[in-house]
Amino acid sequence: MAINSVLLFGGTFDPIHHGHHEIATFVATKLSVDKVIFVPAADPPHKDTASITSAKDRYAMVELAIQDEPLFSISDCELKRQGPSYTIDTIRYFQDLFGSSTQLFWLIGADSIKDLGGWYKIEELVESCQIVTACRPGANKQELQLLCNSLSTGMIKQLETYWIETPEIDISSTSIRECAIDNKPIDSWVSLPVVEYIHKHQLYKKNHGNN
Ligand code: ATP
Repeated sequence: MAINSVLLFGGTFDPIHHGHHEIATFVATKLSVDKVIFVPAADPPHKDTASITSAKDRYAMVELAIQDEPLFSISDCELKRQGPSYTIDTIRYFQDLFGSSTQLFWLIGADSIKDLGGWYKIEELVESCQIVTACRPGANKQELQLLCNSLSTGMIKQLETYWIETPEIDISSTSIRECAIDNKPIDSWVSLPVVEYIHKHQLYKKNHGNN
């Protein structure tokens, strides 16, 4: 089957939660993509890596969370690469993999817009793929105008076009980690196999070195 379009979804996924799952499903349906690929970051440039759960555990949790979704798959391309996980390098990797006839979309949550201007080679990135933004509580479309120092008006318009009115899902990995540390239930936000993995591997415990 020809792969015409792919939705790439990068993140720390520490842990992957229903918010990730729901926006990926919503956007994939809206754009009628042939594939969704989750791309766990090894060394996210915008996060304090010392406090992040190991790539092995984050990868395993994504695998478990998407195992029943035929449209979804996972890539370890960022985990295999040395140095910071720059999105432009990941896009180049997938361009080589799929070829120029496959359209690549890169999914972000609306909270990422405020930082997007500082992303490595942002103009090249915007030219190389279509960034798609999902709604997230606390962030709004007007924030796209903050990018006027980094991107042309045309590029900002393009981002606006691909601002998708997804349901707003008030979940974050941070709040899930905080609940887990306090031994509060997390099963409303995280799929059962992932909850079991977290318990089995004692992730997000005070002495585990992750928080
Ligand atoms: P943390 O709380 O650790 O910062 P997070 O919940 O934001 O994590 P990430 O793995 O860092 O999760 O997010 C990956 C991508 O998914 C980012 O672009 C983020 O904006 C987006 N995202 C995460 N949660 C949501 C959500 N509830 N709604 C919309 N977008 C989301």
